[in-house]
Amino acid sequence: MSFDVQEFRSHFPILDQQIYPKKDLVYFDNAATTQKPCCVLDAVERYMMKVNGNIHRGTHKMAAEATVAYEAVRDQVTKILNASCREEVVFTKGTTESINLVSYSLGEIWINEGDEILVSELEHHANIVPWQMLCQRKGAVLKVIPFNEKGELKLDVFENLLSDKTKIVAVNHASNVLGTINPIEYIIGKAHEYGAYVLIDGAQGVGHCEVDVQKLDCDFYVFSGHKYYGPTGTGALYGKKEILERMPPFMTGGEMIETVTFKETTFNVLPYKFEPGTPNYTDVIGLGAALNFVDSYGKSNLVAWELELFQYAMVKLKNIEGIRFFGTSDNKVGIISFAIDGVHHFDLGTLLDQLGFAVRTGRLCADPIMDHFDVQGVTRASLAPYNTKEEVDRFYEALLRIQQMFV
Ligand code: PMP
Repeated sequence: MSFDVQEFRSHFPILDQQIYPKKDLVYFDNAATTQKPCCVLDAVERYMMKVNGNIHRGTHKMAAEATVAYEAVRDQVTKILNASCREEVVFTKGTTESINLVSYSLGEIWINEGDEILVSELEHHANIVPWQMLCQRKGAVLKVIPFNEKGELKLDVFENLLSDKTKIVAVNHASNVLGTINPIEYIIGKAHEYGAYVLIDGAQGVGHCEVDVQKLDCDFYVFSGHKYYGPTGTGALYGKKEILERMPPFMTGGEMIETVTFKETTFNVLPYKFEPGTPNYTDVIGLGAALNFVDSYGKSNLVAWELELFQYAMVKLKNIEGIRFFGTSDNKVGIISFAIDGVHHFDLGTLLDQLGFAVRTGRLCADPIMDHFDVQGVTRASLAPYNTKEEVDRFYEALLRIQQMFV
């Protein structure tokens, strides 16, 4: 099937606007959050206007309908990740909450003094700080898998770091700064040889790579709905059932219980044990619409167009004198982090904004990567399948124009 980018784009009216007088918006900040197609906005609005009722508890029709819709999204997430059953899918606010859930709950039963947790130098702060704090609480040790000049993990060092002390390995599927797609299947296999559990931060993976948690054999896979055309405040934690069963609850309250007396509380079954209080069912229903939307195009078609656009952009941008790219692996998602000699990234971001381009600048929630390259920050253009080659051309022209201002 040939991909019609204009047709795909037409579902995102937000893209069709002038952000300043006479400046057409070019949205290249998709790694921060993607835009939402009309069907997602409609699904959320319809539920708010017609159906709203608190799920899992009401006897009335609206509550029942909302419950069915919310649980149907769990089935969709089960399917897109190829989890073996719906009990393995817990809804959360997003990647950050999912990682915190695992680090607290698994950490409680699985980490002891002297144990080791491996993260990589490529991680977002969300996949560093929760593990660091767990280590501090338990007297465990955080170890780091470094990356090479291309932004790829040094697998030989990783293998040397593994030992019987290694209890958890937490790495991302794809880096939000360098775009590197990590060899997670290999990492998971090696970590399992030492009996460690593996958590994959799929925030930048789920929308851009094939995900099959059974084939990968990862123990946890987490992602955020808002980076996958869904609403903010949605996300999921996949965990192997037998591990989730053993993990104690993270947050407590209504819905996650079976019985409560002043003496004792017993907990609900999976996945509800990890979903206390009123879930964000409205937005989860919006996420369901987003997943259907992606399905209707075929994720692989969207990924193929993004890759074509990314390669087109790289060929073009390499022509800019004095441009430096961060992350040059051959296996990347459509993330381009760069610097231009003599232009501070904040100036670049501000001037790009004035010309209509939305990009991200700064440290991108990844201080260790900035320290590795010894830079204060970078500029990041991150692509999505609704972006076009014309937008890339305009971006190239804009960078040349800005560069001229600094000579
Ligand atoms: N990990 C990675 C790789 C990310 O890119 C992000 C978001 N930038 C996060 C974790 C955190 O995601 P969220 O803020 O949606 O919880």
